[in-house]
Amino acid sequence: MAHARGFLIAGNWKMNGQSSDGLSLARAVAAGGKGRKADLLICPPATLTKAAADAVAGSGVAVGGQDCHPAASGAHTGDISAAMLADAGCRYVILGHSERRADHAEDDAAVQGKTAAAHAAGLIAIVCVGETEAQRDAGETLSVISTQLRGSIPAAATPENTVVAYEPVWAIGTGRTAIPEQAQEVHAHIRSELAQSFGGSGLQNARILYGGSMKPGNAPDLLCQEDVDGGLIGGASLKAEDFLAIADAADALM
Ligand code: PEP
Repeated sequence: MAHARGFLIAGNWKMNGQSSDGLSLARAVAAGGKGRKADLLICPPATLTKAAADAVAGSGVAVGGQDCHPAASGAHTGDISAAMLADAGCRYVILGHSERRADHAEDDAAVQGKTAAAHAAGLIAIVCVGETEAQRDAGETLSVISTQLRGSIPAAATPENTVVAYEPVWAIGTGRTAIPEQAQEVHAHIRSELAQSFGGSGLQNARILYGGSMKPGNAPDLLCQEDVDGGLIGGASLKAEDFLAIADAADALM
């Protein structure tokens, strides 16, 4: 079955990896990344982005950051600008991850500022949205997602510079995965919200990734959903074998 938008399989290493293990992981992904149909991306911690980009050069595997500051430069101790990520070899940046929203009190407006900065630096922003368990139980999932999308994505975003990641907070790092039908329901809603709120720029054609305990065992059933265009993978991206097995599942659907 051909998948019109093509799959993006993205690894979010979070705060894991030093030069020894992190670069071996990058090299192993690069070795298994050549000649694939799916696009592969690794997002190591900021300390490793440049070395990881060098390690995967020529393999087709892309490198991304995990956050950036909304300003282009200046007095922001400890922060990293989008241009710095681009300079270190990044093509993508993950923004608005639920761990950033929780640990650093990032709201939708902050994520929108970062996304605009990423676009200005020529990066593709992966904008994360997702409901908590309490919001799902209260029947608020779709309205929460709509609010996050409208608030976190700049009006000028395009399918070329923006990817959306649906990451139900209750499924991240918990071993609980949205069942494929739950994921498809929200992904279809995201696409329709993108058409309604950002239709002028064709954003409904953007790739929409699923994230939340995706593993080799559940990837085929999630990736075969009509509106699932790939995965944002945390834990399983730390093992090249598992990450590449998820990429195999994507390739098999293309
Ligand atoms: C994530 O944090 O983006 C994620 C999906 O993590 P995990 O795969 O470990 O649930």
